[in-house]
Amino acid sequence: MPDFPPDFLPQNFLDSHFLNPDRSNLEDIRKLGYAFVDLIVDSVLDTQNQAFVQDESSFKINIPEHGDKLADLLAEVRSQVLPRTVNFQNPRYMGHMDSVPTAITIWADALISAINNNMLSYELAPVFTEMEAQLMQWFGNLFGMGTDCFGTLTAGGSLANISGLLLARNWKQPQSKTVGEANNLVAFVSDAAHTSFEKAMNVIGVGKENLVRVLTNDRGEIILEELELEIQKAIRQGKQPFFVAAIAGTTVTGAVDAIQAVGEIAKRYDCWFHIDAAYGGAGIFSPKLQPLFQGCELADSITFNPQKWLWVARTCAMLIVKDKQHLVDGFDGELPYMDDRTLNFGNLNLQGTRRTDSLKLWMALKAMGISGCRYLVERSLDLSDNLRQWVEASPELELVCEPTLNIICLKSNNPNLSSTFLRQQWIDAGKLWLSLPLWKGDRILKAVVLHPYAG
Ligand SMILES: *Cc1c(COP(=O)(O)O)cnc(C)c1O
Repeated sequence: MPDFPPDFLPQNFLDSHFLNPDRSNLEDIRKLGYAFVDLIVDSVLDTQNQAFVQDESSFKINIPEHGDKLADLLAEVRSQVLPRTVNFQNPRYMGHMDSVPTAITIWADALISAINNNMLSYELAPVFTEMEAQLMQWFGNLFGMGTDCFGTLTAGGSLANISGLLLARNWKQPQSKTVGEANNLVAFVSDAAHTSFEKAMNVIGVGKENLVRVLTNDRGEIILEELELEIQKAIRQGKQPFFVAAIAGTTVTGAVDAIQAVGEIAKRYDCWFHIDAAYGGAGIFSPKLQPLFQGCELADSITFNPQKWLWVARTCAMLIVKDKQHLVDGFDGELPYMDDRTLNFGNLNLQGTRRTDSLKLWMALKAMGISGCRYLVERSLDLSDNLRQWVEASPELELVCEPTLNIICLKSNNPNLSSTFLRQQWIDAGKLWLSLPLWKGDRILKAVVLHPYAG
C-alpha cells in the first residue's frame, strides 16, 4: 500500500467525503451536488441530438495511488466515460426494453442513496418497509390478485422469475426446501419466454432440461393445444408438472399469451401459475390493453418491471404473489440479529441488503398519477403505430408479425438488402438504432418504442 502524499491532511480528506459535524464543509458538499446536477442535465439529458455511442474505444480504470480532486474526477467522467455510454436520450434509439427514466426517478435515486436505508429489516428501513408492503398490495390489486396478495421488489425481472419458480418448487415439494431434493419436477413456458427461466431452473436445482419450451404461433403466443399436449406427455413419462407461465410482453415480439386460458390449463394440472409481465405489465394502465390481462386473478405470482415500460430509473422490478404465505414459506430465513416482531423483507427475499427502490416507485406514481401512467403508455402505443405505418408504407420493409404492444418487428423484403446491413446503415446515418434479435431462425429488426419523443 502506498504512503500518503506529503500534503495529505486527514481533515481535508474527511471533509471531501463526509459532512463534518461542525458543518464547516456544508457548502462544499452542496456544490459537489450541484456539479452533479449540471453534469447530468448538460452532459447526460441534453444529448438528444448526439450519437447513439460517441466513442467505442476501450476504457481503462486507472486507480490512482492518491485520490483525485473531485472536480478532476467529474471532468474525467464527462470526457472519458459519458462518450462511451449508450445514449438512450436519443429519441431514435429504439433497440431494447430500455427507457429514458423520468426526471423525478433520476433524482429520487440519489435521494435513496443519500438515505441509504436497508430493506433487510424493518428496523433498518421502517417507512420503506411500510411503503414497499403497501405498493406490493397496490400492484397486486391492480392486477386483480385478491385481498391476500403481497410481494417484494427485486433487482430485476430475472430475479423475480427465479423467486417465482422457487416458491412454486417449495409449494409442490416442500421437502425440497429442507432436504434439497426436488424429484421429477417439470416446468412449462413458451419458446418465446425469457432466458431467465433456464437460469431459474438451474438455481432451484430442478435443471434446465426439465424446462419444456412450448411452441408459439407466428406472433409469439403460446399454442394452447401444444401446452396441454406437452403436459400430458410429461405426465406419461412419470414427471410431475409443477409450474406453467404465461408471458405478457415477450422479449422479441411483445406478444401476450392468452392469460386466462393458460391459467386454466395450469390449474387443471395442479400447477403453479406464473405470469411474466416484466415488460407488458404496464399495459394494465391502458383500458385499450386491459382485456389482454383477463385471468390475472388466476395467477399465483406475477413479475413486473416498472424499470421498463413505466420509465422508472433502474433498478425497479417486483414479484407479486396471490397468497402472502407462499412468500413467507418460500424463504423464512431467520434474522437472529434483528427485532423479529415486525415485517422484515429480508425474510421474504433472495436478496439480503436491498436498496429502498420503493421510494423511487412511490414518487413516480405520486408524480404521474394513474392517469399520467395511462397517458405515457398510450402515447408509446400511438408512437409505435406511427412507426408501423412507416414500415407498411416502405416498399423495402415489411412487418414480421402483427404487433400487440409498443414493439414493432420488421424486416427487409429486398433480397439484396439484409436486415443486418439495413440496421448498420441506419445506425451509421443516425437514423434509427434497432436491435437484431433471432426470431424463428431469422435475424429481424426490432423497435421498442419507449422514448416519449420517439420518431
Ligand atoms: C426484461 C425481461 C425479463 C428480465 O428482466 P431483467 O430486469 O432484465 O432481469 C424477464 N422476462 C421478460 C418478459 C422480460 O422482458
